[in-house]
Amino acid sequence: MRCHWASALLGAVCAAIALGASAQTARPAAGVALDLASRRAAVVSDLRYDLSLSIPDRVSEPVEGAVDIRFQLKGASSPLVLDFATSREHVHAVEANGRPTDFDFVNGHIVIPASALSVGANALQIRFRAGDPPLNRHEDFLYTLFVPARARESIPCFDQPDLKGRWTLRLEHPAAWQSVANGPEAERVQAGGRTRVRFAETPPLPTYLVAFVAGQFKVETGVRNGRTMRLFHREPDAEKVARNVDAIFDLHATALEKSEQYTAVPYPFDKLDFVAVPAFPFGAMEHAGAIVYTADDLLLDKSASQAALLNRAHVIAHEVAHAWFGNLVTMRWFDDVWTKEVFANFLAAKIVTPSFPGMNHELRFFLDHYPGAYAEDRTAGAEPVRQPLANLADAGSLYTAIIYLKAPVVMRHLEALLGEESFRDGLREYLRDHAFGNATWDDLIRVLAPRAPIDLAAWSAAWIDAPGRPTVRTELQAANGRVTRLAFRQKDERGRGLVWDQRLKVAIGSTAQPKTVDVLLAGPVTEVEDVRGRAAPAVVLPSAGGWGYGDFVLDRASTENLLRALPRIDDPLTRGSAWVTLWDAVLGERIAPARFFDLGLTAVAVERDQQLAEQMLADLTTTWWRLLTPQQRTARAKRLDATLRRGLAAAPTATRKAAWFRALYRTTITAATAQWLHEVWAQRVTIPDLPLAETDYTRLALELAVRQPPGWRDILDTQANRITNADRRARFEFVRPAVSADAAERQRWFAALKSVENRRQERWVLEGLTYLHHPLRAAGSRQFIRPSLDLLEEVHATSNLGFPASWVYATLSGHNSEAAAEIVRSFLNSQPPDYPKHLRNATLAAADMLFRAARIANRADGRAPAQRSNARLHSPSAFGTANPGEGYAMTESLASGVGAKR
Ligand SMILES: [Zn+2]
Repeated sequence: MRCHWASALLGAVCAAIALGASAQTARPAAGVALDLASRRAAVVSDLRYDLSLSIPDRVSEPVEGAVDIRFQLKGASSPLVLDFATSREHVHAVEANGRPTDFDFVNGHIVIPASALSVGANALQIRFRAGDPPLNRHEDFLYTLFVPARARESIPCFDQPDLKGRWTLRLEHPAAWQSVANGPEAERVQAGGRTRVRFAETPPLPTYLVAFVAGQFKVETGVRNGRTMRLFHREPDAEKVARNVDAIFDLHATALEKSEQYTAVPYPFDKLDFVAVPAFPFGAMEHAGAIVYTADDLLLDKSASQAALLNRAHVIAHEVAHAWFGNLVTMRWFDDVWTKEVFANFLAAKIVTPSFPGMNHELRFFLDHYPGAYAEDRTAGAEPVRQPLANLADAGSLYTAIIYLKAPVVMRHLEALLGEESFRDGLREYLRDHAFGNATWDDLIRVLAPRAPIDLAAWSAAWIDAPGRPTVRTELQAANGRVTRLAFRQKDERGRGLVWDQRLKVAIGSTAQPKTVDVLLAGPVTEVEDVRGRAAPAVVLPSAGGWGYGDFVLDRASTENLLRALPRIDDPLTRGSAWVTLWDAVLGERIAPARFFDLGLTAVAVERDQQLAEQMLADLTTTWWRLLTPQQRTARAKRLDATLRRGLAAAPTATRKAAWFRALYRTTITAATAQWLHEVWAQRVTIPDLPLAETDYTRLALELAVRQPPGWRDILDTQANRITNADRRARFEFVRPAVSADAAERQRWFAALKSVENRRQERWVLEGLTYLHHPLRAAGSRQFIRPSLDLLEEVHATSNLGFPASWVYATLSGHNSEAAAEIVRSFLNSQPPDYPKHLRNATLAAADMLFRAARIANRADGRAPAQRSNARLHSPSAFGTANPGEGYAMTESLASGVGAKR
């Protein structure tokens, strides 16, 4: 409810609420509550910030600042609340309209008394000490990261997306530093060992998009289509920069051009710079005019995989597309954050496709989105695409695989329903109507509804407002070698009676070359009339075409034929669809993991498509560590090594070799291969046509250390000395105690994480946790699970968005025992009823693979399942698996900076 309490039309009810609201305003809750934000948005307009910050030479000294906030106010009968989630001591002085003001400091807010304000123009001047956490300060650089509502932890502001302001930024910093911000540089003066920079006023921006970066950076300049762009980076390897820099500028230029064409709106901001930050907590962040990327995502190694090249193109296109979706038109509240993410991804897919000719883009879209979306959506912790959000303090929990991976699938289905042009025209209208303003999903539905052939509100209720996916069962009957009936039955396993109507592309016929039949899945049962009387098929695959979204339960013959002959399927997209469907069947306990593993090893050995081979290797790695028993692993260890070594030798390119090599060093448990890897690491053996970079040797050293060969400590010492890049060296030094063979050293490393200071480098923490909980160390690291879960609330309160979920994933990534599963269940059961729902769900999602693994292991042992302590965790709806960077695969995704979060 939005109560316009200052308007002249107050009825009795609204007036009563207004009184309550005023009282609340004087004591605002912590965070940024929806009711506070709604009231402020109703009365504050024409907002301008003039922000000055002085960054000292030493990181130990505080950043001092002043901000001049000007705005129009509709009513001045209530106190005005600013957000500044620091402490009272951080506020030096507040002036309102030229006079010193007696303000209150309440729950991280500065409350200005109504008596100091006037209707119409107001100006506040605040001198303050900036809060450090969102400034990410290092010895010789810093970068801001204010998303989703963390500007308030550093500077006083109205920290909500629908109070957009024009920002002028003045920085003072060490003379040798570079700096970049949203606006173009207007003035730069050097004096007394310091540099003063003023950045020109920006167009209206929400606080979460405001950013600056300052420090020891090198600057590369590129001109494309008459536009000058700059890349700021800290990479000392000049050859690495030279190898990447043109591609980086080209990719940005292409993304800009294609976005302008699609939206019919020129790039809305004055300039575009980008910064490569080492160990940035997300893939990237779309700060208007100053995008920040994870350095490793932009500056790729020579052996970068196809996936890494694509990821780079996609991340760049995604961030550039945000200039329109998110930056130009912003969600009114973070419950609609998914809209900007889905359209950034949607547009990115259109941008990237033509840049990689010769690549199967349908297969790429399918593999990039479906497995990751399913990994979350099949779990008991799955959230809907659109989630209600009462306070921005919890906005971080909205950034899930669902909004990045499921929402684009949903949007592609919607585009298919409306038609490409009609959908595009709707988006153009939406962008024009709300330029430099805010909009909601309902605003978009209003634009699209007249163009849609179906009831969009009903469609939205299942696809957008509810978690989960349908189970779609094939019902196939045949007699005398002819089909007598084919139907698909969809069911909501969570018992809500939802239907997910959608178009299906059904592959039907021989295993090698099935034909595709279009079927509109509508309502609970869909009969397919026009196949009746045809020859009984070897395979019916309703998930074909990389299109249908659900858990597809195949008929028995189709399952058997695919398990026997999957590699014989000609079309890669059909093969990929079948692979993902079989993986669902493994997790649904319809196929034994060992059988799937054996099929996979045969299939990957002959897989011609690089993308699919990488997906297979990832799923095989997960199956290997999480779902096979130790005996099953031992029995297959030599065959696994041999298959991977053969793949490595036969792969035609360095990129493809790298994928095989990674799979080998992540999975091997044989002494012979460990010895060979040691020789490779020691550079006594080279792998023909696979150049290894320093980062490869670092990963290899850590993997070797976990396997504890003689002299493991020397390996780590030598590797530390090999690392020339100071940032990477610091990361290595941080992580290495987590791989130590000395249990006491690992304990100390974990204990140190209890202090927030040791959790600031979030990627380092996640990498260390993943090694700490390496499957080979699972029995010894089980003791850390409960303390990690107990810390979760505090981790949530002190970290960037997405980190709490990643924290749990990393913690559980190496475990598959009933004992570990019981620790998680017992933790969840012992929480009070008001334990934050998003943390409970994040835990359930992260634990999903563990629960399944424990259940499957019990079954393989022939033991009765352990006593179930919580029925909810084991109800049919509790089925699920994990993250895109799931399980042990996470080491790689972290190390290469490829993550679901952007
Ligand atoms: Zn994004």
